[in-house]
Amino acid sequence: MEWMELKERVEAIRAQIAAAAIEVGRDPAEITLEAATKTRDAATVRAAIAAGITVCGENRVQELTQKLDQFAYDGAEVHFIGHLQTNKINKVVGRVDLIESVGSRHLLEGIDACAARLERVQDILLEVNIGGEESKTGFAPEELLTAAELAVKMPHVRLRGLMAIPPVAQHMGDSRKFFHKIYQLYVDIIQKMGDNRGTISCLSMGMSQDYADGVREGSTLVRVGTGLFGPRA
Ligand SMILES: *Cc1c(COP(=O)(O)O)cnc(C)c1O
Repeated sequence: MEWMELKERVEAIRAQIAAAAIEVGRDPAEITLEAATKTRDAATVRAAIAAGITVCGENRVQELTQKLDQFAYDGAEVHFIGHLQTNKINKVVGRVDLIESVGSRHLLEGIDACAARLERVQDILLEVNIGGEESKTGFAPEELLTAAELAVKMPHVRLRGLMAIPPVAQHMGDSRKFFHKIYQLYVDIIQKMGDNRGTISCLSMGMSQDYADGVREGSTLVRVGTGLFGPRA
């Protein structure tokens, strides 16, 4: 895709984000547009960064590794947003700025151990399974506080916030009630973390179809793929 076309799309999406933010009295500067770059090649990722994208999100380890080796993300942050199997933790920890999809205690412990071996601190988000879907990974809302308490005690993990993907929406606006619940969980966690709340400032929710509702309900990071690059092959 042409750089010019990408630049126009980035600007159009940012304008929508700003409009949704202003509607609810938020400062548009609180919200970051993350490009979900799965299936897009290194040249397209570079074009997106040249067009103003500052954060890329990758959801497969192999693709992430390939594009890192091609220096595709130079000039931007890279986040891991997909399902991370424990046997691939070492390919991701220390190589990405943020792992957004930490959805189990086992994974959390694996990341802390791996980061310890590298003498690093890995920034993470806890993923919440907000729709209670069996097909999805993530902590159940009632497990979240325990997971957050565990994470803030880990020396090689820094808890930055929460991420969630609501159930696939049938109609426009369906995601909003889920975003509202996630925001309440987020505020609750911040309140209960006491002195550790300082590093928690990220709420990752909203994708191509529903990012404006995510912003209306308090998102600070929206992950947009098709809305930016067009349909995936
Ligand atoms: C692909 C993906 C997105 C973006 O989805 P679109 O519908 O293409 O905007 C967001 N978050 C995650 C975790 C993804 O895997």
